[in-house]
Amino acid sequence: MNEPNTTLPTVPYLSEPGSATATSLYIDGEWKAARNGRVREILDPADASVLTIVSEGGRADTEDAIAAARRAFDDGEWRGVSDDERGKLVGRVADLLQRDREEIAVMESLDTGKTIEEGGIDVDDVTNVFRYYAGLAGKDAGRLVSAPEGVHSKVVYEPVGVCGMITPWNYPLLQLAWKMAPALAAGNTMVVKPSEITPVTTAKLVELTAEAGIPPGVVNLVLGSGPDAGAPLSEHPDVDLVSFTGGLATGRRIMSAASETVKKTALELGGKNPNIIFPDVDLDTAVDYALIAAFFHSGQVCSAGARLIVHNDIHDAFTTELARRAEAIRIGRGQEEGVRCGPLVSAEHRAKVEAAVARGVEEGARIIAGGKRPDDPALSQGYFYRPTVFVDCEHSMDIVQTEVFGPVVTVERFETEAQAIRLGNDTDYGLSGGVWTGDTARGERVAAALRHGTVWINDFGPYIPGAEWGGYGRSGIGRELGLQGLDEYREAKHVYRNLAPEPQRWFD
Ligand code: NAD
Repeated sequence: MNEPNTTLPTVPYLSEPGSATATSLYIDGEWKAARNGRVREILDPADASVLTIVSEGGRADTEDAIAAARRAFDDGEWRGVSDDERGKLVGRVADLLQRDREEIAVMESLDTGKTIEEGGIDVDDVTNVFRYYAGLAGKDAGRLVSAPEGVHSKVVYEPVGVCGMITPWNYPLLQLAWKMAPALAAGNTMVVKPSEITPVTTAKLVELTAEAGIPPGVVNLVLGSGPDAGAPLSEHPDVDLVSFTGGLATGRRIMSAASETVKKTALELGGKNPNIIFPDVDLDTAVDYALIAAFFHSGQVCSAGARLIVHNDIHDAFTTELARRAEAIRIGRGQEEGVRCGPLVSAEHRAKVEAAVARGVEEGARIIAGGKRPDDPALSQGYFYRPTVFVDCEHSMDIVQTEVFGPVVTVERFETEAQAIRLGNDTDYGLSGGVWTGDTARGERVAAALRHGTVWINDFGPYIPGAEWGGYGRSGIGRELGLQGLDEYREAKHVYRNLAPEPQRWFD
């Protein structure tokens, strides 16, 4: 077997471990050091070694980036680029992503801990998102509106302006693409702030936008912590829109800060997503998908199927098989062939997952798989945690209601369809849910009754660039992907022309 690739490519914006300097901020078309010269070590979650050194920007750097984005929007050059040309530029980013697919997959795997295979899937998904929005650039330029005689009325769409984009660590490349591709297609300029612990592929994507020919100042990148480098994007009067993907607590903070300047605000927050299993399913298939729903990317997925709701008749057979297969999942470094679950992203995050599991045990839920770190001493330096299955769960338990964002699934029981629906909607969130049944009518009924932004019938997890993604309830505000995902980045303007104005004498 080939040795796994555990090094990042040599690129100017990622400095060698041990470096005292770095130029990883991209502002007005130039890679720059942070104004205060600070740097941050980026760790490999599989063994806690230093992967790379990047700049650690602060408020002043973000203000520089906002000024660059503002200039690039206001000077009109970017807005003067035709829809066709903008579509081509966005499409070129897709081509470059495919050209560098293998390299980016390794980068994402090393930075986040996911497997290289998952990294490659991310690159393909992101490529499709860029292609989708490349095709939409200018396709819906506006419409004539039926108006009274003597009036010409049209609605046109314009870019919102300067967009702040703040992203999380679980899908750094993908979550940014869902914002950047439509924002570019609509003609906006932007400042991007990825999670401080996983900045690598974000910098790469920004580099590709420049290579594609997107002009300086249109895409700017700042790295650094949320409160320092991120907060100005929700506060600054020169930012017109802030789009955030991350946790509920941070989302609240951003919404409240953005209200000062009445910024347009898009929020993609967490989820605690029900996966309802009726007894008329093929057990083997339903267990298989339930495992993927719960443990893909070690459960660090906003739409993870972390809350199984299983019919009484199959509960015992289902959970026995689920636990058996969860125990057999191969854990290891994401760059090793055959590994299915990599490490959690950081020591802090694993500590949170462990605390949630301990709470679940205190509440009376019972662990039938995992519930601990792996025994393998080769994994002791990384942030690994075993896929964990809880049974004897009640809907009121914290382990059932609070997002764990790790490889932890809870199982509740139900008897009737009405009860399953009630449990499926018994959450403050509303991001996604699944229903498994051999009865088509029942599948449609339950899907219609579930109050979640995405509902899968006999599946769990996939998304399509042309279909809107987002949350009901506390899972967020607005939608990404699809046509609405483009509309987030457009203002509608009504232009009303009086064809023959005459004096009205209203005040005579
Ligand atoms: P987080 O909220 O801790 O951080 C997200 C981003 O916000 C980071 O870039 C962080 O630096 C920044 N940030 C923190 N404080 C800030 C502030 N005061 N002002 C501006 N920016 C600030 O989230 P996380 O731990 O990185 O990601 C996990 C969360 O993301 C989970 O809750 C998950 O469900 C959610 N998520 C949601 C979706 C979705 O599509 N709905 C997708 C992926 C992740």
